[in-house]
Amino acid sequence: MKLKLHWQIVIALAFGLLIGFMSRGLGFESFMIDRVSILGTIFLRGLRMVIVPMIVSSIISGVTSIGTAQNLGRMGLKTFAYYVTTSLLAIITGLIMVNLIQPGVGAQVGLQATPEGIAANAAKIGETLLGIIPTNPLEAMVNGDILPTIFFSLLFGFFITQSPDPYKTQLTDLFSGIFEVMMKLTHFIIKFTPIGVFALMAKTIAQTGFDVILPLAAYMVTVILSLGIHAIVTLPALLYLAGLSPLKHAKAMSSALLTAFSTSSSSATLPLTMESVEKNAGASNKTSSFVLPLGATINMDGTALYECVAAMFIAQAYGVDLTFGQQALVVLTALLASIGAAGIPMAGFVMITVILGAVGLPLEGVGMILAVDRILDMMRTCVNVWSDSSGTVIIAKSEKETGLQVLRDVST
Ligand code: ASP
Repeated sequence: MKLKLHWQIVIALAFGLLIGFMSRGLGFESFMIDRVSILGTIFLRGLRMVIVPMIVSSIISGVTSIGTAQNLGRMGLKTFAYYVTTSLLAIITGLIMVNLIQPGVGAQVGLQATPEGIAANAAKIGETLLGIIPTNPLEAMVNGDILPTIFFSLLFGFFITQSPDPYKTQLTDLFSGIFEVMMKLTHFIIKFTPIGVFALMAKTIAQTGFDVILPLAAYMVTVILSLGIHAIVTLPALLYLAGLSPLKHAKAMSSALLTAFSTSSSSATLPLTMESVEKNAGASNKTSSFVLPLGATINMDGTALYECVAAMFIAQAYGVDLTFGQQALVVLTALLASIGAAGIPMAGFVMITVILGAVGLPLEGVGMILAVDRILDMMRTCVNVWSDSSGTVIIAKSEKETGLQVLRDVST
């Protein structure tokens, strides 16, 4: 039987640790740092290769999946408000936790950023915000400027839904087709994760010894605790306030949540999420087919939170103190990055470079957190699906649907 990917990654991680450590003892660390690390670089380049086409096709196909323009009225607004509110709540939870725990501070991980580079970028916050509106969308895509690419794709997708047939159908099909191909391509690259993890871990350990382990563990704890707060406190509070029972809803969603955990993909889980929300939680197909497909690609609370913690952790590890303004920029870019990330494994990881770029941190910082990404991916995907499904029942309740089976105090 073939070993599951996450087990392969765990083994690669252990090997990376071992070989990296041995290389220090036996004096071949420069071989690991200069040569073997190339495998990691190849892997990261592969992931970055898919970013732009993935974002464009995922957003456009997500937005067009909401279908006809009639749908876009009241329910569209509610859905959008829910997405943005919960994602922001998640990010802020992460931001508070990462500032409290400070997992990266004092980490001796051999990372250095030039203060001039940071300062030069820090001055550009206003520009980054303005730059969200591209003067030339193709240029933005070609240069890999993610925020304007996301902005343009959202608009483009929206106006496809507003166009007459046959163009609407043609374009919807075209972008769904491209999205399908990009998901396959990304899955192909992800098969090589164990090699990337091995190479990057071995390199890091060869460079720094075990100094990296402690901060990395603290970083994982920070992400997991923050995800826990969002999933167990914040979202249930919203469900409760809406008159719904978080416990009943969690039970209704259990198989979808487990699938999200084991596949690390909201998109792959989507059919199950829809079935559970309709059959077990009792939301109507009208609401779930509106909220869930779009949510699977653009509403990612877990990913948004993780983006923020990861970027802040990398900043801390580089010894960079981000100002309030820069942290606000991290929050905003984390939100957009989570919107831009597709519902497939590691999409969130790839998007961290967007945030690092926005605040002027070196992109290589992501190499450090790759090793532990898969396990965090499983958890954040779970939170993503949990938020999508909670949003569906909250909106169904606000639309006065009668079939809901997860009400707080049903006496019937
Ligand atoms: N794997 C996540 C999802 O499918 C996205 C991410 O990588 O954060 O929801």
